[in-house]
Amino acid sequence: MVKEDLKLFNDIVEEFLKDELQNPVTKQYSPRELKSKIDLKLKDTPTPSADYKKTLKNIVLNTPKSSSNKFFNQLYGGRNSKAVLGDLLAVLLNNSMATYKIAGIQVCIEKEVIRKVCKITGYNKNSGGTFPTGGSMSNFMSLIMARDKVDLSIQNDGNQEKLIAYASREAHYSLLKNMSFSGIGKKNIRYVTTNNKGQIDVGFLKKQIELDLKEGLKPFYINLTAGTTVICAFDPILEIIEICKKHNIWVHLDGAFGGTVIFSEKYNHLVNGISQTDSFCFNAHKTLGTPLSTSVLVVKNKQHLYNSFNNSASYLYQTHNNEYNLGQTSFECGRRNNALKLWSMWKSIGTKGIAKIIDHEFFLAEYARKYVAEHEDYTLYNFENALSVCFNYKNYDPKEICLKLYEKNELMVGYGKFKNSRFIRLVLVNNNNTKKEVLNFFYTLENFVKKNSKQLKK
Ligand SMILES: *Cc1c(COP(=O)(O)O)cnc(C)c1O
Repeated sequence: MVKEDLKLFNDIVEEFLKDELQNPVTKQYSPRELKSKIDLKLKDTPTPSADYKKTLKNIVLNTPKSSSNKFFNQLYGGRNSKAVLGDLLAVLLNNSMATYKIAGIQVCIEKEVIRKVCKITGYNKNSGGTFPTGGSMSNFMSLIMARDKVDLSIQNDGNQEKLIAYASREAHYSLLKNMSFSGIGKKNIRYVTTNNKGQIDVGFLKKQIELDLKEGLKPFYINLTAGTTVICAFDPILEIIEICKKHNIWVHLDGAFGGTVIFSEKYNHLVNGISQTDSFCFNAHKTLGTPLSTSVLVVKNKQHLYNSFNNSASYLYQTHNNEYNLGQTSFECGRRNNALKLWSMWKSIGTKGIAKIIDHEFFLAEYARKYVAEHEDYTLYNFENALSVCFNYKNYDPKEICLKLYEKNELMVGYGKFKNSRFIRLVLVNNNNTKKEVLNFFYTLENFVKKNSKQLKK
């Protein structure tokens, strides 16, 4: 059965890859149109095999193409084929990563990736880590470890002290939810203003911490960002670390977007001081082209992972040293194998190959930024060393341009906001793209505006 279905899988994939090249933007329909076009209804009776195959194919061909050369809408893009291979194997093997008994060698693979990431981060042998479900979960786990480090009895008695967390105004929105989930409360986060490059204002931060201490509050956690979600700014770690150490504040570096710069000798200066942080995460599915989701969280002292996430469970932990029973350090119980895809890519191309991916994406971003800066019809809103390029074209409303490009099946791109400006956000994280696809993006946009200028709002 599996063999037969894998044949069908191959047929569908072949058609899909052809279609992806010919039609990089999937024709968009309203939900109602789609439902009338393709029979999605679940019925009491089986579907005849021919219909079933046809429907599956139709579904695949009508799904937005997130890996094509015209998808710039999200912080992920492209497709690393060795990572896809690894993930397909993980699906077939279907091990939960909770224990060595059920995942065996897959546990060793996850541990090897974590070991290597810790080493590159500059953490010593006391460090450890895990593969959470994504960046939001990585941030959540770091917040819980920081909370428990203040006082482990919080786990039993609930929060007694007035805990205060800090983050830049440009930090990811998951932080606010996490403040609620952790019981610390949304109102106990201090959003620190940013300078005109979108980085946390260090002077402001220091003053705020002193003020909170004076009021008898307990500063305990700061969330710094390596690559903010909209303009891809990197917070200065070194300037902040001293005051945090002085007051025992947990420093987490959220590198979900830009954290993979650790792999590049050319760009790892953007996270100078990273070895002094308490925890760090990155999403390989954003910049490295691995399938969703591949999120890595590393912790300088892995005892904190055990303190916050281990639990005794006699029905689960029956063999082997806890070191190999990864459920002791994860939020989830049954946990998908997200390590194999990153390992299979890394094993194939080496750390040097990963560095090349990062460097190429920065190259594409610089190329796009230069294009915008040199053409007077464009206004540029962000800076060098960023994987997103934020701009406006002539005086058109960015929201309007993005929406119309989508409705007319031309391009997938989104818009963002920083301080008082709204703009188109072009994200250059598809490693399969070249200068040609970047130019093609601008030409498509320009031609589109020329043809439709009367219908576009300014
Ligand atoms: C994308 C992103 C996240 C969230 O990651 P998910 O895997 O989507 O949960 C967190 N922080 C930053 C800076 C991000 O860009």
